[in-house]
Amino acid sequence: RFISFEGGEGSGKSTQIKTLAERLNAAKLRTLVTREPGGSPGAEIIRHLVLSGMGKLLGPEAETLLFAAARDDHVRTVIEPALKQGIWVLCDRFSDSTRVYQGRLGQVAPEVLNAMQRVTIGDLRPDLTIILDVPVEIGMKRAAMRRGTGAPDRFESEDLKFHQDLREAYRQVAAEDPQRCVLIDANADAATVAASVWAALRDRFFK
Ligand code: C5P
Repeated sequence: RFISFEGGEGSGKSTQIKTLAERLNAAKLRTLVTREPGGSPGAEIIRHLVLSGMGKLLGPEAETLLFAAARDDHVRTVIEPALKQGIWVLCDRFSDSTRVYQGRLGQVAPEVLNAMQRVTIGDLRPDLTIILDVPVEIGMKRAAMRRGTGAPDRFESEDLKFHQDLREAYRQVAAEDPQRCVLIDANADAATVAASVWAALRDRFFK
């Protein structure tokens, strides 16, 4: 099974992925936690490039091609081999991040994204996508707390409007593909959110 996690800053993706992986492992299901951009040695190098600010030197399409190159490597060398072995793959961000960040917010045209998607993932889709939804002010506060006094990375923004658009874009993704996506209210404490995530898995896979 292939499960992706999506959401804006401070939505709690990493905490929820960790909790779910522990739960699956306790149920004796082999589990792999991975992330994008990155997740394979080659893709982690690209992650470093784009998050370090190099992406700023590039136009939006060129930058999107770097994200696509990272995904291509990650899918071929990590995700597909694991799925073939029956391992549950939990991925922190996947193709919906591209739709949202490069597409809706970065204004790369849908045809361009579709072409890249054909190359990078072909017919591969997550069996389930968990979208963690939090009010913008809460997410920004959580992210600022995690950063401490550090500066936001290339993509982290303290701009309220950006985060509102981001949240709205994710809600649209969930509405457009309700078969695959579950929108979860992530404004609760971590244990409550984890229970909702588990309920989503139970509904899909353990009935
Ligand atoms: O989830 P995480 O914080 O590790 O993501 C790293 C950064 O990369 C985020 O700030 C996110 O905004 C950005 N990103 C992006 N486009 C993607 C995936 C991630 O701009 N396709």
